Amino acid sequence: MSKILVVADHDGGALKKITLNSIEFAKQWAAKTGGSFDVAVFGQGVGVVAQALTGYGAAAVHAVDHADLAHALAGPQAKAIADLAKSLGATGVVGSTSSMAKDALPRVAVRLGAGMASDVIGLADTAEGLGFRRPMWAGNLTGDVVIDSAVKVITVRSSAFDVAAASGAVSPVQAFAAEPGAASARAKFLRFDGTVSSRPDLTEASVVVAGGRGLKDRFAQITEPLADLLGGAIGATRAAVDDGYAPNDYQVGQTGKVVAPGLYFAIAISGAVQHLAGMKNSKVIVAINKNGDEPIFKVADYGLIADAFTAVPELVSKIKALRS
Ligand SMILES: Cc1cc2nc3c(=O)[nH]c(=O)nc-3n(C[C@H](O)[C@H](O)[C@H](O)COP(=O)(O)OP(=O)(O)OC[C@H]3O[C@@H](n4cnc5c(N)ncnc54)[C@H](O)[C@@H]3O)c2cc1C
Repeated sequence: MSKILVVADHDGGALKKITLNSIEFAKQWAAKTGGSFDVAVFGQGVGVVAQALTGYGAAAVHAVDHADLAHALAGPQAKAIADLAKSLGATGVVGSTSSMAKDALPRVAVRLGAGMASDVIGLADTAEGLGFRRPMWAGNLTGDVVIDSAVKVITVRSSAFDVAAASGAVSPVQAFAAEPGAASARAKFLRFDGTVSSRPDLTEASVVVAGGRGLKDRFAQITEPLADLLGGAIGATRAAVDDGYAPNDYQVGQTGKVVAPGLYFAIAISGAVQHLAGMKNSKVIVAINKNGDEPIFKVADYGLIADAFTAVPELVSKIKALRS
């Protein structure tokens, strides 16, 4: 019987939707192995987030509240996660592929002597046992990884799983007394320079307007009006970021964020495999590029061969005209 512990993602006081994708994965894993899953929220003042997770079928929701967990420092987080996993006798620990989980969960795996598979997109039956399906070689190959250790640590690609449906039952919330030990950690919190934006979070947005190197220093001028009009987030290619046209936290792709919005605009983006790795699961992809031979058109649902500097402002004014 498996016992899976899902680590929730949150932003201080608010639950991040990607937690519900991690829960969906845990449900599928528990169903395949005849077990159950718990959810845990680590931080300071996590009561509201814990309450928000009581309706998804977890055997229990653990509220792990401690001043040492106020900032997402990987060392204290990993110790608290591993201690809770041990006390529950968890056979699996699951997190999303968020920055926090990428930082903390490998440390959890070390503390638990567990094998780990990252960026998992599904489960597979293999001759060697249950496989964790994950992309390799920038998404060019998909492999099924079998983990031999008794405890397994997994991060999941959120866009590969639906949001967990609410269940009828209400899970009990339990406090876990953690001793994260921030004072003895090798890193300490100095300050948090967050990006202040009125736009939705890139990984949670239902519309993403992404631009590439082709937009040059008119990147903001072209992407922002369309994003504002559609209530969307702005994304970018690594080339646009490297050339200084867009900030680093806009990057979508293999070494950036993985997104799967309902609508993704790829404007002046060639469609390199490393970029596709971060957005190809979007429901509807619209490509605008002046070169009709670019690979982005192979994944696009709608393609417009045009100069973005004239096509995008025209699109914005036509949407405005339709709305009025
Ligand atoms: C290990 C590794 C990891 C990487 N990780 C990432 C990643 O996470 N994310 C990522 O995006 N890339 C990543 N890359 C880089 C990737 O290989 C590509 O170089 C990058 O995605 C290209 O970005 P681009 O499409 O903006 O630029 P280009 O490939 O230079 O394409 C620019 C496009 O703009 C079009 N264009 C130019 N002017 C206009 C115009 N006026 N109107 C319309 N279209 C126009 C051109 O036709 C062209 O298609 C990675 C590379 C490596 C090696």
